[in-house]
Amino acid sequence: MTTIVMKFGGTSVATTERIQLVAKKIEKQVLAGNQIVVVVSAMGKATDDLVAMAEQISSVPSKREMDVLLTTGEQVTISLLTMALHNLSIDAQSFTGWQAGILTESVPSNARIEAVNTEAIEGALQHNRVAVVAGFQGIDEEGNITTLGRGGSDTTAVAIATALKASLCEIYTDVDGVYTSDPRHVKQARKLQEITYDEMLELANLGAGVLHPRSVEFAKNHQMPMTVRSSYEDVEGTLLKEEVTMEKNLVVRGIAFEKNIVRMTVHYNDNYLGTLANIFTTLAKKSY
Ligand code: ADP
Ligand code: ASP
Ligand code: MG
Repeated sequence: MTTIVMKFGGTSVATTERIQLVAKKIEKQVLAGNQIVVVVSAMGKATDDLVAMAEQISSVPSKREMDVLLTTGEQVTISLLTMALHNLSIDAQSFTGWQAGILTESVPSNARIEAVNTEAIEGALQHNRVAVVAGFQGIDEEGNITTLGRGGSDTTAVAIATALKASLCEIYTDVDGVYTSDPRHVKQARKLQEITYDEMLELANLGAGVLHPRSVEFAKNHQMPMTVRSSYEDVEGTLLKEEVTMEKNLVVRGIAFEKNIVRMTVHYNDNYLGTLANIFTTLAKKSY
């Protein structure tokens, strides 16, 4: 049996109607005889709304409590989507990050995944049950709930696909693939049929928000085939792989841009005895 991981982002599950459409998409894959793991984000702007609520209570909220708060967004989606699958007579079970065995380092708000203990998910798959997993969240070795950084559900999906040795990780989103630039801002942008992991990593790191950079890094390190495609239309998306066969040797594959960048200039006087390394080590320790 082929195992496929399907990930749906916030806009794709923004309303209960859309959640039911997503359930229909999953149904197609189940009827095609595939074992399916679904990873979802919080509904629409739910995560932003939770951040705004925390800001009303505190200007410097505890990072640990922020993680506890923000992970509730994805928990809403997993339960609703699982119910929608049940309505279609599909056996399905929801999993929070810790139930799905996503183990992370102890860095609140931006934790890296250290391991995925797939036992529970595999148990569901063995019973031909769809596993519906909350993206963006995990648990550290002390049992604290952690989050992977904004947009981190993509990384959850690739990490699970890798741990399960799935055939494919599909990222369903509100655009039908990776474009030469953000299609919302650049009308002439063209959809790419294929892109290499390295090119995508560069675009994602430079601000192309379509994929969480760490998901691309993960896919590259484990050679996991990954596609970006539309949640709404049934059209082919963009395939990420090691080497592209089409339009080889293009010097420029795409253009990315970023808003809200902070530029920090550090001044120190002549008798400062430390080194630049001290500054970067301090920033790294704080996970900036
Ligand atoms: P999701 O909620 O599904 O994770 P995101 O908002 O994180 O979706 O990512 C999809 C968005 O990425 C698109 O709506 C698009 O505006 C933006 N985007 C930025 N750069 C690109 C690009 N090069 N190709 C496609 N989409 C891009
Ligand atoms: N819900 C989280 C966010 O808005 C994670 C994600 O969507 O991937 O950043
Ligand atoms: Mg995203």
